[in-house]
Amino acid sequence: MLLEKIEELLKEVSNLSAKNAEDVEQLRLKYLSKKGEINALMADFRNVAADEKKNIGIKINELKKTVTDKINSLREQLDENQTEGADIDLTRTAYPIRLGTRHPLTIVTNKIIDIFQRMGFVMADGPEIDDDKHVFTMLNFAADHPARDMQDTFFIEQSDPNDVTKNILLRSHTSGDQSHFMETHKPPFRILCPGRVYRNEAISARAHCFFHQVEGLYVDKNVSFTDLKQVLLTFAREMFGPETKIRLRPSYFPFTEPSAEMDISCHICGGKGCSFCKQTGWVEILGCGMVDPNVLEACGIDSKEYTGYAFGMGVERITNLKYRVSDLRLFSENDTRFLKEFETVH
Ligand SMILES: [Zn+2]
Repeated sequence: MLLEKIEELLKEVSNLSAKNAEDVEQLRLKYLSKKGEINALMADFRNVAADEKKNIGIKINELKKTVTDKINSLREQLDENQTEGADIDLTRTAYPIRLGTRHPLTIVTNKIIDIFQRMGFVMADGPEIDDDKHVFTMLNFAADHPARDMQDTFFIEQSDPNDVTKNILLRSHTSGDQSHFMETHKPPFRILCPGRVYRNEAISARAHCFFHQVEGLYVDKNVSFTDLKQVLLTFAREMFGPETKIRLRPSYFPFTEPSAEMDISCHICGGKGCSFCKQTGWVEILGCGMVDPNVLEACGIDSKEYTGYAFGMGVERITNLKYRVSDLRLFSENDTRFLKEFETVH
C-alpha cells in the first residue's frame, strides 16, 4: 500500500508546474510542511513491518529529494523570468541621448565647400577607383612621371601597359574628377571636387596611405591668373581670418602652367615668426595654376578659345593648420576622446 502511494506521488511530482510564487508556496505546503504528504508517509512508516523498513525508507527519502528539487527548480525558473523584465523601466524617459560629433575633416571640408559655393562653384564627383587615362594621361603626366610608379600609387590592375584605360588604380588626387567632368561638359563651368585619395605611403604621424583633397576648376573665356589669386585670397581670409595674407611661389605641376604654391601668413604668430611656421611667418596650404592647354585639348576643349585655373588642397593639412592636430593618424583611428574635442566646432 505504502509503496504504491509513493510511486503515485513520484509521478504526480514530475508533472508539477507553477505560474507564480504563490503556486510554489502552495506546493511546498502540500508536500513538505508538517501536515504535508511526506510527513503523512512518515507517520505510516512507523507501522511498516521491520523487514520492509529499509526498502520503503529509501523510497521515501528518494521522494522527498525529488519534491525538494522540483520545488526549488520551479522557484528558480520564476526568479529568472522576473529578472529578465525587471531591468526595463518603461516609465523612464529616453533622454538625454548622447549625440555624436562631426568628424573634424567633415567640418573643414564643409567649410571649404561653403566658401567656394558662395563664389559660384558647384560640386562635381568622380570615382575613387579610376583609370590611368583620367588620373594621369589626360592631365598631362609624362609617361615616366614618378606618380605612375607602383611605389607611389596603388595600381589594382595593369592588364595592358600600353592601354591607359586598362590600367586601373586608386586615384592619387581628385584631379581625375576634373578630367571626367571636362570631357562631358562644355565651358564655362566652375566646379569643386572634394574626396578621398590614395598614395602608397608608409603610415606615420605625417603621412598616410589615404587622405582627403578639395580641388577647384574654373574654365571660361578670358580667365586669368588674377582671377585665381583673388579667389584664393578670399578663401584664405574666410578660412583663417580677415587679416590673412597670401603669397604665391612659382612651382611645377604637370597639369598647370604656370603653377604656384600658395602660403598664408602664419595665423599663430601673425607673420612675425614662431616655431609653428619655422620662424618664416608663412605656412604652405595649397597648389594652384593656370590649366595647361594640353589638358584642355585632351578633354576636348579648344585651348585657344578657353582658359582656366585650378587649385587643390589637402583637407588634413587645412585641418592641422586650423586646429593644430599634430598626428595625421588621429583622423582615422575613431578615438572618441579625440573626436569629442570638436563637439563645439561647427
Ligand atoms: Zn608663426
